[in-house]
Amino acid sequence: MDAALQAAQARLRSILETVPDAMIIIDQRGSVESLSTTAERLFGYAAGEVVGRNVKMLMPAPHREQHDGYLGRYLKTGERRIIGIGRVVVGQRKDGTTFPMHLTVGELRLDHRHYFTGFIRDLTDQQMTESRLNELQSEVTHMSRFTALGEMASTLAHEINQPLTAISNYLKGCQRLLERMEGEQALVLRTAVGKAADQALRAGHIIRRLRDFVARGESERHVESLPKLIEDASTLALIGARENGVEVSFRLDATADLVLADRIQIQQVLVNLIRNAIEVMVESPNRRELEIATVANADETIEVSVADTGAGLAPEVAAHLFQPFVTTKRRGMGLGLSICRTIVEAHGGRIWVDARPGGGTIFRFTLRAAKVEEPSLAE
Ligand code: ADP
Repeated sequence: MDAALQAAQARLRSILETVPDAMIIIDQRGSVESLSTTAERLFGYAAGEVVGRNVKMLMPAPHREQHDGYLGRYLKTGERRIIGIGRVVVGQRKDGTTFPMHLTVGELRLDHRHYFTGFIRDLTDQQMTESRLNELQSEVTHMSRFTALGEMASTLAHEINQPLTAISNYLKGCQRLLERMEGEQALVLRTAVGKAADQALRAGHIIRRLRDFVARGESERHVESLPKLIEDASTLALIGARENGVEVSFRLDATADLVLADRIQIQQVLVNLIRNAIEVMVESPNRRELEIATVANADETIEVSVADTGAGLAPEVAAHLFQPFVTTKRRGMGLGLSICRTIVEAHGGRIWVDARPGGGTIFRFTLRAAKVEEPSLAE
């Protein structure tokens, strides 16, 4: 080895020993070349246990199974999904626990070979986690509040419309009777009842406008990668799941990829279903297994399912589960599932629930698969 190379390696070693950030360098096959002392500490491994092995050992599912694919896709297409961008992802320590981390990836090319450098910031620290997660969550919760309000408005509109119609009918009856009566007082009464009927009509118009506004919503649909949507939503929804003893597995159909969807709305559906599943499992002493799966159907729909091993549905809510204000939780609003239904149906899909064989519940919904134009062979 020539002196210059040796000096360069010594320099790199000293950087990795002293840099306060966790840094990991991998080659283009995902094999770890070197890591900083902080990274050893963060993941709980000694360098010797990691160097030469695939970096996917530091990630939980589904990234663990998919990381080789991410690398392969990048090398083939050059499409950047994380390089130079930075994202909040989940890391897995030697003892199996997981933690949120911010990952930025840099790329280095040497003699036609690619190396990737990951810079990792641990977000376990409460304050940092909160600010980062808030960032991630703000989009989803903004939407969620918007939809929760919309859902309430639409329910209220429906509930108020019925008494308004009744008022208007009674007033019409009164007017007909008054028309047959004579005298000055009858005239005064007729005018007053007429005005009351006008006001009832006006209230009806206001309510109808409110419903129309809510129904229009603000939905922006694009062709989206379903596995990516699931990955982002579960990163958020699964924080703290492993610490509560919840085992998570993903069974994603490789042919179920593109869907036409409003990304934030569908993420919201997933986050709602996953959080409900975790909540119900944490309350039960049974095994805690969460499975998120997709399957492409022959009719060009994709079915997404979230299955838990919780206590199952309470009989008093089972029949009206997807209606607003149905809840068994002390602090629950009972809006989550009705929002899920509104969103899924607005996407032309269907949502339903089944009992899971062996105990627990499976929520399923469908989305329309998006077709990508095949490049014409004639061109
Ligand atoms: P909230 O969470 O505010 O109660 P939701 O609409 O999300 O509102 O849920 C309504 C009810 O449905 C819950 O209170 C609970 O009783 C039931 N539920 C939802 N998800 C599950 C599940 N995975 N297992 C059992 N029951 C569930």
